[in-house]
Amino acid sequence: MSIKVYQKKRKFKSTPEPKGESRAVSSRRFVVQKHHARNLHFDFRLELPDRIDRGPVVLKSWAVPKGIPVVPILKHLAVQVEDHPVSYIGFKGIIPPGNYGAGQVEIWDKGKFILQEHGKSFLKIQLKGKKLKGNYVLTKFGQGDKNWLIFKVRKLGC
Ligand code: MN
Repeated sequence: MSIKVYQKKRKFKSTPEPKGESRAVSSRRFVVQKHHARNLHFDFRLELPDRIDRGPVVLKSWAVPKGIPVVPILKHLAVQVEDHPVSYIGFKGIIPPGNYGAGQVEIWDKGKFILQEHGKSFLKIQLKGKKLKGNYVLTKFGQGDKNWLIFKVRKLGC
């Protein structure tokens, strides 16, 4: 997935969001944006190549209705959404009514991460944010490609 899908969904004359572009190199940042859209949710974004191990660097993105758990055991639904441009990592502000995702966006947490391990249907990462610290797993479930669970683990390998 490239950021073309992201760009097609938006009218850049009427939203302050960046048009953006992909990049060649990742500095392994993450962000969680609290998005007061029609349904409040948290957007979890990881700066990674679009195929994880190769490809242009984008923000791999998931919408997490209940937010990212700060303690182990809780598993929260994370719905994968279109890759966003890297410059979206600093975006906050108001997406005006009538636009895709209309509503306020604020930065809930940000920091660096380490990609510990990955496969076709999972990512193991260590987050180094202000609120989110420690080891997390994202794992696909069910049919299709969109539904993932995100949860915190005490040690990787769990
Ligand atoms: Mn959103």
